[in-house]
Amino acid sequence: MAVGTAVGWREGLDAGDVSSETLVRTAFDRIRSLDPHLHAILAVDEDCSLRLARAADARLRAGERTPVLGLPVVLKDNLNWTGLPVSCGSRVLDRYRAPYDATVVARLLQAGAIPLAKANMDEFAMGSSGEYSAFGPARNPWDTTRVPGGSSSGSVVSVAAGYAPLALGSDTGGSVRLPASFCNVTALRPTYGVLSRFGLTAMASSLDQVGPIAATAADVALALSVMAGRDPLDSTSSDLPGVERLASLRPTGLKGLRIGLPSEYFGEGLEPGVRSILEEALRVFADQGAEIQEVSLPHTRYAIDTYYLICTSEVSSNLSRFDGVRYGHRAKGRNLPAMIAETRDEGLGAEVKRRILLGTFCLSKGYYDAFYLKAMKARTLIARDFERAFDAVDVLAAPVSPGVAFPFASKTDDPLAMYLADAFTVTAPLAGLPCLSMPAGFTAGLPAGIQLIGPACSDVMLLETAHAFQLLTTHHLEIPPPLRIGANHGL
Ligand code: GLN
Repeated sequence: MAVGTAVGWREGLDAGDVSSETLVRTAFDRIRSLDPHLHAILAVDEDCSLRLARAADARLRAGERTPVLGLPVVLKDNLNWTGLPVSCGSRVLDRYRAPYDATVVARLLQAGAIPLAKANMDEFAMGSSGEYSAFGPARNPWDTTRVPGGSSSGSVVSVAAGYAPLALGSDTGGSVRLPASFCNVTALRPTYGVLSRFGLTAMASSLDQVGPIAATAADVALALSVMAGRDPLDSTSSDLPGVERLASLRPTGLKGLRIGLPSEYFGEGLEPGVRSILEEALRVFADQGAEIQEVSLPHTRYAIDTYYLICTSEVSSNLSRFDGVRYGHRAKGRNLPAMIAETRDEGLGAEVKRRILLGTFCLSKGYYDAFYLKAMKARTLIARDFERAFDAVDVLAAPVSPGVAFPFASKTDDPLAMYLADAFTVTAPLAGLPCLSMPAGFTAGLPAGIQLIGPACSDVMLLETAHAFQLLTTHHLEIPPPLRIGANHGL
């Protein structure tokens, strides 16, 4: 197994060839040398991470083994890790520190993973490029003039640039899959409920899921194995069938696997370079005896409208808690209403304000039936499309995004163009389904992923399918050119 993957380091740690402390020190050296260029990291507590690494080394020496013991992991900055800032990429949370651990973070800590850093992100996870971070965007390590994709920009860049073998992002409508496609890494959005949302700052609660990110599906599976399952602190959480297969992932047999291609995802908007990458990837599956057939998800054309109506409605409610009273930034204000208004005006960015206003409008009396209620009905139709498709196929394959990573500032003046980058990623979340993005090839030096979508609770099968693909291909082993120098120096 290639050095630099979580599975590779896992073997090294278990054999005593490398210590967790060495991994963590190396990671911080790498962050110091590369992050001034990539801007993926918002906060670290180096002493704390090193203390945790030494504790993991003691557990390893005592013979303890877990899938993630001693492995560094970067956390998106909307996940609570006690004592560290949790900015959500926003000025409104200025100086706010997490008073508790998110359940996913607590479970990683318990299993001995080492949180390394809090990662840059679009403000409150609203965005597709990383450019809506209040602290300046992260950069794509494949081409630093281009966006890394969002909203989990810093988490994905951290894996792509080799800071850490594992990272956590969150995916409401594509936020781990889109940047994974733009940066050549693997990321899973689990079935809604498989990962607890306790301690994940809410954006749109009926859509939000934590998503593990890594170089390979086998690495993603390691992280998922220690985090998945019911949590009494999140009533929407549930157990994952087959979770015991994750710690040492086996490839699924591809012979006879029925793969559906939704025709609506292969229409005109798809860039030719991305289309060729997908065709090539599908040939790999077909050569192994997978049966590929076209399917139809006819309500896909309503997906963007449906997603943005539901998402903004939930945003308008969830973000009302950032009022200057309880968290972070507080404006001066002559009186209480003025303080709240000024705090929100000063603290929140344009995209967040736009969504709060849109959502408040959708939910308002007289418009609720026309917008929110109609969107909820469309959501049901979209979910039924998937149910029907899964009567005929085991898994769906699709592009992640119509194109590759785009240049900075090419969509920020046109919110609709930015929203359209999500055309292929918002559908599965509306239906609560598991989906992943994995590296599928390159066009003009830039990576693009292929997306797999499965029926509810098929997360393990999806990862096993991705693993089978990755045993037959090498795209996921490609690392960004300037970073090869670092790789040759033992990283
Ligand atoms: N890009 C989508 C949006 O802006 C998805 C964001 C996300 O998944 N957090 O809403």
